[in-house]
Amino acid sequence: MTNANPESTDTHLISNFLRDLIAEDVRTKKYGDAQIQTRFPPEPNGYLHIGHAKAICLDFGLADEFGGKTNLRFDDTNPSKEETEYVDSIQKDVRWLGFDWEKLCYASDYFGQLYEWALQLIKAGKSYVDDLTADEIRQYRGTLTEPGKDSPYRNRSIDENLDLFMRMKQGEFPDGSRVLRAKIDMYSPNLNMRDPVMYRILHATHHRTGDEWCIYPMYDYAHGQSDSIEQVTHSMCTLEFADHQPLYKWYIAQLGIFPSEQIEFDRLNLTYTMLSKRKLLQLVQENRVKGWDDPRMPTLSGFRRRGFTPEAIRAFVGSIGATRSNGVTDIEMLEHFQRDDLNRRSARAMSVLHPLKLVIDNYPKGEVEFVEVANNPEDPSAGTRQVPFSREIYIEQDDFREVPPPKYYRLSPGKEVRLRNAYFVTAQSVVKDAAGNIVEVHCTYDPASRGGNSPDGRKVKSTMHWVSAAHAISAEVRLYDKLFTKADPYDFAEGQDVLSNLNPNSLEILTGAKLEPSLANAKLEDRFQFERVGYFAVDPDSTPGKLVFNRTLPLKDTWAKIEKKAGA
Ligand code: ATP
Ligand code: MG
Repeated sequence: MTNANPESTDTHLISNFLRDLIAEDVRTKKYGDAQIQTRFPPEPNGYLHIGHAKAICLDFGLADEFGGKTNLRFDDTNPSKEETEYVDSIQKDVRWLGFDWEKLCYASDYFGQLYEWALQLIKAGKSYVDDLTADEIRQYRGTLTEPGKDSPYRNRSIDENLDLFMRMKQGEFPDGSRVLRAKIDMYSPNLNMRDPVMYRILHATHHRTGDEWCIYPMYDYAHGQSDSIEQVTHSMCTLEFADHQPLYKWYIAQLGIFPSEQIEFDRLNLTYTMLSKRKLLQLVQENRVKGWDDPRMPTLSGFRRRGFTPEAIRAFVGSIGATRSNGVTDIEMLEHFQRDDLNRRSARAMSVLHPLKLVIDNYPKGEVEFVEVANNPEDPSAGTRQVPFSREIYIEQDDFREVPPPKYYRLSPGKEVRLRNAYFVTAQSVVKDAAGNIVEVHCTYDPASRGGNSPDGRKVKSTMHWVSAAHAISAEVRLYDKLFTKADPYDFAEGQDVLSNLNPNSLEILTGAKLEPSLANAKLEDRFQFERVGYFAVDPDSTPGKLVFNRTLPLKDTWAKIEKKAGA
């Protein structure tokens, strides 16, 4: 399912119930004269992915629209899984997407306050220390169809609870031996309300608080209050948290603190794409990809390295809006937005990925001339450049057939084609190696067709890109395909897992590509359309003598085709 028209980049026209809701709160002055305050709350246990981009654009984008502010808050309640590498990458990626935060916050900043609030709940008889094991707690919780039952420790005295909780904090007890729980209702139809755990004992070093704490708050105990501390007016999150909302409200009501409003929206799911951080980490750890920023990864750093632009990602996210039910968006739609952006902005260049030498027998040996080429036909202000032409050039292997199949309009013996911006050439003969492979094609050119048109009005059916052999620079080119072979990577046989759907051919490395000489100056973040071939970006693996290019996308816009087929 796709839920928007990709041609429409005016995001205001796209249904987004969150925008409507905030607009209404602003109109009715629900928060008085206070500004809209949102937050983006990633857990620093992985790199941000394209799904997070949606949350970021909503959190930051909507606050911007209504003159409000957004905090970046790291939900770092889980010391064993979090790393500063992730904290740094997340900040970089949010900025890259084009946003900046009002305050940089950490849930761990609130550990002291959260502890005080826990004491307050114990004193109010709303929280107790439980000695059941994790397994027992699970058994006592019941199921969706069966009620839970009370823990034998549920009715401990307030004094005993206070004493035990403080001793938990002081490190007297081993990991897992006790927890602090909220005393709500073991018979609630909502499992989250069946005396959820608030604190667990974990003698672990935290990336920010070090060894100061050996008890850590659960995400569900920290999240709502963190919003409240930051006076978040609209706390937007994905739909799976809807069932947790009553619990966040319960804590806030018991503590009598600022009531942030939580609003849930649909997760972004993309075809051929897996967005589980745990599984993405596994891809990295098992070297199935070359790190979190491998251009095949759905991470923002992967997209960046591949050559995607923040503008295109924002336009895509804006176009899908936000709803109250989860769906799946076609990856082609994201690619469509990217092509659209690159088509308008990227410089054109000629590059031959699979070179075949073409010798122009009647072109003077040793002569070099320069043809003028537009840098971007979509953007006259991008100017022109001079491209060298000479007797020996490279063309794509695919652009020549000794025996042309039906409807093959490119070069073959006796056929005339146009070399882009240069001349008409007619193939005459081939040179083969001992194994019978064609290593050279010989042709003749028509000197009168300079610039790509013949004065007698002769037509050719094909225009090909080329690179002068003597001037070409060699480069490595990496071609990427989808990381998964199935539109739904989670569609796997029993006993298998999602990684069984990995595409074994998602990366192809070409080491002998020949590029026009102007590309020698290409630098990181430069993006090009290699004519007739695709969109390409410089990879950070490039060194001064050896450029490496990533194919961002091939030229063909499958989304446009799908749309046409659908009659849209
Ligand atoms: P985890 O499995 O580690 O909980 P997560 O994807 O929920 O992963 P968080 O770091 O907790 O990761 O996410 C930060 C914010 O991004 C949350 O508000 C979450 O709702 C939102 N988010 C995460 N994945 C998506 C997605 N696919 N689409 C939209 N928003 C998302
Ligand atoms: Mg999460």
